[in-house]
Amino acid sequence: MIPNQNYRQLQENYLFSEVARRAAAYRKAHPERELLHMGIGDVTLPLCGAVVDALKQAAEEMGKPETFRGYGPEQGYAFLREAVKGYYAGRGVELDVDEIFISDGAKSDLGNILDLLDRENTVCIPDPVYPVYVDTNLMDGRKIVFAAATEANGFLPLPDDSLAADVIYLCSPNNPTGAVYRRDQLQRWVDYANERRALILFDAAYEAFIQDPELPRSIFEINGARTCAVEFCSLSKTAGFTGTRCGYTVVPEELCFGGMRFQKMWLRRQATKFNGVSYLVQRGAQAVFTPEGQRQVKENLAYYRRNAAVIMQALEELGVWYTGGKNSPYLWLRCPGGKPSWDFFDCLLHTAGIVGTPGSGFGRNGEHYFRLTAFSSRANTEKAMERLKALQAAL
Ligand SMILES: *Cc1c(COP(=O)(O)O)cnc(C)c1O
Repeated sequence: MIPNQNYRQLQENYLFSEVARRAAAYRKAHPERELLHMGIGDVTLPLCGAVVDALKQAAEEMGKPETFRGYGPEQGYAFLREAVKGYYAGRGVELDVDEIFISDGAKSDLGNILDLLDRENTVCIPDPVYPVYVDTNLMDGRKIVFAAATEANGFLPLPDDSLAADVIYLCSPNNPTGAVYRRDQLQRWVDYANERRALILFDAAYEAFIQDPELPRSIFEINGARTCAVEFCSLSKTAGFTGTRCGYTVVPEELCFGGMRFQKMWLRRQATKFNGVSYLVQRGAQAVFTPEGQRQVKENLAYYRRNAAVIMQALEELGVWYTGGKNSPYLWLRCPGGKPSWDFFDCLLHTAGIVGTPGSGFGRNGEHYFRLTAFSSRANTEKAMERLKALQAAL
């Protein structure tokens, strides 16, 4: 047996384990000090009532012979695909239910979609970004080129003539920078992809955090996207499904490369390697899209948004440069004093008891930046910002 040699190319992803290690060491040395976790990329508010009720009812159904369900459709139950279709229609994006695929989350599909791509493709990945795109392509041995996301381009790289990519990852609103592409900027990517016959993999996991009505929440709001893009979305951040697991992927009917229809290939891939998301979870997900579910989910999003506002206010008072926060749960700040990311991490930990995430962990261009998140509790967010302001002199 010869193991996949590409795994040798993977760098030890030590970002979150190193954060945890340093925080634990500090806690051990200073047990009296309360640590405030402002780096979490996980939600903290529980599932909303509408979802819990739907889960309970589905559990009851599963316990009765007349309503019990076995294997479901691999692509997802029609009731949920119809609900997703309605959600998109609410923003003026018309989809066919056959273009919507229910999954156990965006991360799985972002990795699984690579089954459909030849190894010889060159992929373009923004730097910094969610580390999953890089690692899944390294596992396959694909060539990666990076698109630099910097302060100069507002952390939103655009294509230029020198770029030779067959597959392009876009994440908007972005994790970790919180930057969101405008319509005209996404149009440039779509035009580039259509001209080059390249594929865009659009990660919309944070679309629900967009408040500005001018900003696109789906790549399919852009002309020409149906011939070049696949969109990945998830209820993880929108509705607190990180532990419940449900997402959806949109593969347009028109998407076709080398005479092969992508939607048909994806259906075949899913039918062969995936047996669908549990009936219970799909009923819970359906509840998110009901008027009551939407109202409740929006309350939770508003809570995180107010946390983001608390952080933004503090950073402004401190005169720290930052981006994100307005249309995203992430705040991306420039480390004061030009400190490297890990030095600033240690400084915040040791002087304020705040645990954040060093930007360098998301890519080379993340060095000298730092990520804070709005997913903590209000009390912790306020306390952390008070401590930060008290630190002004040290910054
Ligand atoms: C959290 C997150 C996801 C969602 O992953 P799930 O598997 O649906 O929980 C996708 N993309 C990015 C960039 C994320 O941060």
